[in-house]
This record gives sequence, structure tokens and C-alpha cells, in this order.
Amino acid sequence: MSYYFKKMKSFIEGINLSHKLIGGILILIAFPLVYLFVYYTGGIKYVYSHTMYIPILLTGILFGFKYGLLAGLIGGILLGPLMPLVVENNEPQEFFNWFYRLVIFIVIGGLSGYFIDRFKKTLKINKKLYSHHPDTLVPNINYLDQFDDNYIEGKILLGTIIINNKNRISEILGTDTYIKAINVIYHFLVDELPEKTIIIQADSEKLWVMFKLKNMDQDGKKIVDVLSNDLDIEGIKIFIDYSIGVSEADSFKACKTLIPFRDSDRLASYAKENNLPYVIFDKDLIEKKYEFNLLGMFTEALKNDETFLTYQPVVDNKKNKVIGIEALIRWLNPEHGLIMPNDFIPLVESTQLIHPMTNWVIRKVIRKQIELKKQGLEFYISINLSSKNLHNPNFYKNVMEIINEENGNPNLIIFEVTETVLLKEEKSITNTINKLKEAGFKMAIDDFGKGYSSLTYLNLYEIDFLKIDRYFISKIIKNPSVMQIVEATIKLAHQFDLQVVAEGVEDKETYEAALDIGIDYIQGYYIAKPLKQDEVKKWCEKFNKSNKS
Ligand code: C2E
Ligand code: CA
Ligand code: CA
Repeated sequence: MSYYFKKMKSFIEGINLSHKLIGGILILIAFPLVYLFVYYTGGIKYVYSHTMYIPILLTGILFGFKYGLLAGLIGGILLGPLMPLVVENNEPQEFFNWFYRLVIFIVIGGLSGYFIDRFKKTLKINKKLYSHHPDTLVPNINYLDQFDDNYIEGKILLGTIIINNKNRISEILGTDTYIKAINVIYHFLVDELPEKTIIIQADSEKLWVMFKLKNMDQDGKKIVDVLSNDLDIEGIKIFIDYSIGVSEADSFKACKTLIPFRDSDRLASYAKENNLPYVIFDKDLIEKKYEFNLLGMFTEALKNDETFLTYQPVVDNKKNKVIGIEALIRWLNPEHGLIMPNDFIPLVESTQLIHPMTNWVIRKVIRKQIELKKQGLEFYISINLSSKNLHNPNFYKNVMEIINEENGNPNLIIFEVTETVLLKEEKSITNTINKLKEAGFKMAIDDFGKGYSSLTYLNLYEIDFLKIDRYFISKIIKNPSVMQIVEATIKLAHQFDLQVVAEGVEDKETYEAALDIGIDYIQGYYIAKPLKQDEVKKWCEKFNKSNKS
């Protein structure tokens, strides 16, 4: 049975447009031919009238139910009122005779068309079942077969999405709800990700996403953003706990082998094991187990206070006074010892962990500020922000929550951001910065001179401080043109009411040169290295006192 089904399937699937065209022409010729054939063999009295079944059946098979009926009708009329019983003496047929034949022809044409239509529908469903998950109707891996190797050109972004709480959702809300949720997630992804995105349900709790790669970081974030949409299944709000891994493949052809998904799968499993919402990495980093392990340990590190802050003073050289301190994070890892921020912040920034980290810094800074105030020391404390913080729509709200909980004073907190963040002029960032400014926080541009050094954004934001990068500052005495640039920058900054800080001043000459060209504040090893938190009070008191006398 299945053998014949398959044969028929391949026959019907093989019918294409040109077959239909040729078939159509043959049918059109067949009707008059059969008519003439019956006529010249003597009329309807003889058996040849059955030849008419050929064009009728053919029409049903090729064109379906409606045309089958029509062919029956035409055949019936041709061999009915238009055909004598005996041509020789032109004896007409009896009405009942030809009318009965006409009905039979119509039934035959209609039935053949009807069964073919049904069969085609079954084929379509079969095809869909072959390439789609039967419950969720999301494409499965067979779906990839239908695309040619160049369907998406260039490099491909691969995302693996693991749904961690599948069992809980199924247990509490029922499997049906889970299936619907997968379908809704699928449509969210298809609607909001770039054109030609392909989504595959790899197993019951895993989806694969692929689309043309532009920028790993931003592309990965797109997936995360789509998944942060609220899921509402028939009025029930559903929380989905995702772990996401993002990597890349060289070509769409490679994706069809499914091998590149190993990387994104590994990253997603890694994210799951370590409670990270998502991990985006390039292939090189996947190999760097050490860094992976570090990242895995970071959540615990924050909780167990393995991280701590050091504070580097910034001083006013005219008034000889400490005007503030910059909080700089450190991590004392039991296994690897002291880890400096440049060795772990880029890793942390590649995940959502940057948000709890920044929140942690803000909380510690406020507590330190209150402690110092009680000891009679009141000045700014600077906090470094990552661009990811400013992209986070909840950032402002989180900051204000911490300020309220800890009773902090925004007027004495400076947020340091690098100019690349400001140059993007993104609306969400502008909004966040403006809200922070309204709440009283101060803003500083960090590492100025390292990037574009443009200052064009000064009319967009109310910035309070400009921190000139150590690399620039270290050159002012040796390179007169750098000196001129820095001097001009200071003048421009002053016109916009910014106060200028020289970073990384390491020696007396640089210190004096910086003063000469109008720098307002100095920070650097020449003044002080980052201080442990219990050294701050003593150092500041000593500095303020020694300069007064
Ligand atoms: P940054 O914000 O530019 O901080 C200044 C860095 O230069 C600090 O390095 C500081 O120790 C170092 N430094 C200060 N004066 C001198 C000097 O005279 N000579 C030399 N050679 N170096 C000097 P650190 O603490 O290793 O921090 C490195 C970077 O890590 C920071 O650069 C900042 O971008 C980032 N960072 C540190 N703490 C945090 C944090 O809490 N959050 C975020 N998002 N980033 C942080
Ligand atoms: Ca800084
Ligand atoms: Ca800096």
C-alpha cells in the first residue's frame, strides 16, 4: 500500500506547470477528436464513446474537482445532444440515454478531481510534518533541506536558546501552554529578527536561530531583546527562563551540516550551568577555558565579597584639596589571586552580569561616602559605567532604587563614561543621561583622547568633567604639538563649563606642565595610587592638612 502511495506521491508531486500546460492542450484537442472519432465510427450506438473518459479523467487529475466536473459536462454534451445514435440515418438519441451518460461523466470527472485534491492536501500536510515539529509547528532540522546553499550569504550568526524551565511550565500550566509558548516565541523571533532569519526547534527545549551576521554583540543582543518581550498565553503571563549562546558560522552551507551549532550549544549550556542569561563569544574565546571559568565564578564572587573597591584620589591643585576619589574595582579570587579590572571587566561586559556588578559598585560607593561624611570628609566619588549599563532601559530606575535604599546623595556622585558611548547619540542613552543629570548626578567623559576626541556631543549632554587620558598626558612634556592640542581642548572644555582632569600623572614634570596649561584637577600615581578602602580617610586628611600649612 505504502509502495503505491509513494509511487502516486512522486507522480503527483512531479506534475508541474509545464505538464499542466501540455496536458491542457492535449485535453482541448482530445474533446473534438473523441467527438469526431465517435461520429465517424457510426455514432453513440457503438462502444467508442467510452474514449471520452480519457480527457475527462485527465482533466480531473490535472486540474482538480471543479474542472473535472466541467470536463464531464462538456464530454456529456458532446456525446449527448450533439451526437446522433446512428450517424448513418441521423437517428437522435433518447433524452434519458444521453442525460444519464452526462451525469455519469460529470460524476467521474468530479470524483477524479476530488480524490486528487484530497491526495494533494495529504501530501502537503505530510510535507509540513516532515519539516515541522508536529506540536509546536515550528520548523525542525529537515526544514533546512529546502534552502539552497547560498540562501543567506556571508557569515551567519548562530544562536542557541535553551528554555530552562520547560518542566516547571509543563507541570504547572500544562504541556499545551508550553507548546503554545514555543509557538509564540517562534513568531516573536521571526517577526523581529532580520529578513531571512531561520528558526529551528532542535529539541523540545532548544531553539536554533540563524541570520546574516553583522555584529556579534549587537546581533546577540537583538535575540536577547526579542526574548525579553512579555509572554502572554491566553491571558496567562509566562516567565521563561532562557539561557542563550551566540556564535558564528562561516557560511549558510556550513549551517546545513549542523556542526557549527555545537559552539552556540556549548555556550548556551555554559550560560545555563553558570546562571548567566546569555553568553556571546567568538570561537577563540570558547577555547579560553580560564576566562570561561572566571566568568562562571563571578556571580559568586559578587555575593561573597571577593570583589572590593579601591579609591584613587583626584586633587585640586589650586586649592590643594582632595576634590574626589574614583572607585576602581578589584577581584581577589581564591584560586587565581588578585585580578585587575582590565582582565575581567571585558568578560563581565559580554554578559548581563555587568548590571549586578555596577549596582554592587554603586551601593558600596554610597556606603563609603556616608562613612567618610561621618568622619568629616565630603567629596565626589566617581563610578565607572560600561556602555551596556546605559543601554539598559532599567538602569536609571535601578540607580534610583539604590540611592533611596542607601540614602545616597546624587550630587556627590560622578558617573564616568567613555566618549564612544556619547558619540552614538542614541536616544535611549541620551534619555538615561538626562534623567541622571536631572536627579543631580554629575557626568564625566573618561579616557578623552583615546577615541575620537571630538567633543561634538557637548551641546547634547550636560557634562561636568573631562578626563584626559593617561596616554595623552604622558606625552605633553615630550611632544609640543600634543601639549598644544591638550591646551586647546582645555580651553574649549572651559567654554562649555567643563572641569578638566589629567589622568595618569606619574611624575613631577608632567604634573607641573599640566598645571601650566590650565588643567583643573590631577589624578595619577604622582599624587596617589588607588587606595585600599581603610586607607582613604588617613590619606585624604593628610593631603588636605599638609597642603594647608
Ligand atoms: P580608568 O577608568 O581609566 O581608570 C584609571 C586606570 O588607570 C586605573 O586602572 C588606575 O589604577 C590606573 N592609573 C591611575 N593613575 C595611573 C598612573 O599614574 N599611571 C598608570 N600607569 N596607571 C594609572 P585600573 O584600576 O586597573 O582600572 C582599569 C580600568 O578598568 C578603568 O580605567 C576602568 O575603565 C575599568 N574599571 C575599573 N573599575 C571599574 C568599575 O567599577 N566599573 C567599570 N565599568 N569599569 C571599571
Ligand atoms: Ca575612569
Ligand atoms: Ca580613564
